[in-house]
Amino acid sequence: MGFGISGSSRITYHVSRITYHVITMDIEPLRFSYESSLIGVLTVQLAPVMSQMDSARAKNLLNAGRKELLGNAVRITADLLPEIHDIYHSCLDTLGGGLSGDLFVRQSKEYNAGVFAQGKKFDVLIHSALLNDFTPDGLRFVFGHELGHVVFEHSRFPVRDILSNSGGVSADTADLLFRWSRATEVSADRVGLLCCGKLTSAAKALFQTSSGLSGIDSDRILRSFRRQYEELEAQIRSVKDTRSWICSHPMIPIRFKALELAALDILALRQQSGGFSRKGFQHVDQQIAAILEALDVNGIPWAC
Ligand SMILES: [Zn+2]
Repeated sequence: MGFGISGSSRITYHVSRITYHVITMDIEPLRFSYESSLIGVLTVQLAPVMSQMDSARAKNLLNAGRKELLGNAVRITADLLPEIHDIYHSCLDTLGGGLSGDLFVRQSKEYNAGVFAQGKKFDVLIHSALLNDFTPDGLRFVFGHELGHVVFEHSRFPVRDILSNSGGVSADTADLLFRWSRATEVSADRVGLLCCGKLTSAAKALFQTSSGLSGIDSDRILRSFRRQYEELEAQIRSVKDTRSWICSHPMIPIRFKALELAALDILALRQQSGGFSRKGFQHVDQQIAAILEALDVNGIPWAC
């Protein structure tokens, strides 16, 4: 699951039970409930395919990913890059639960990161441009996002492998997989915010990723995202066939809005203040799922 870009049918919403006294933080309540609903549907629809894709094969894929990283990227250690190593480990510590995985960097001017995961085993890869240009809090958001894919076990449905498996899945199932894949980005962003602790830093990281621009004032970024989200909403209401413009309108404004709406609750969970509101989250999730559903109704191809 890349950090850069990355989604809805009418389904019931539910949020898992919440634990307020968290020692090892219970992340599950942060999962976008629309994602949970899609997992339920996909688990049934993909059962025959998943039983064919045995776990040994999945493990081999992880090993191949690690081999590729060890051969073509550089592992970040405390000795090599102490600050970055500390920032990454502060994210692992925030999430707790004995999470441990290596961090690698690869030369690239593209703002992107990714994670190779099999269950709770993982390696994180970050592009060098992010290390050069992002603030420590921005990096915490990116690392947290990637670790979010791990803690929520988003490797459970390897989308590319499933779709390239010529045994195949129906067009409807493929469509659900793409929607789920987009929804996972909303869930992962919440863990990113949990790790960085500041909405402005998270927004700035999303802004830098989508625009390639640095050094813009936070207030301007927030205003820009809010306006763009409003325009997106208005477009969805007014245009029947949005197929032509959606590819040039990435999910970023929706991801920002989802974060902004959930920010207070996420930060309450981070501070373990007991202010985490299950009700508030249900409301947020319904609002974001509704806009994703509206995109679906209008015939948006999720994989553009
Ligand atoms: Zn992602």
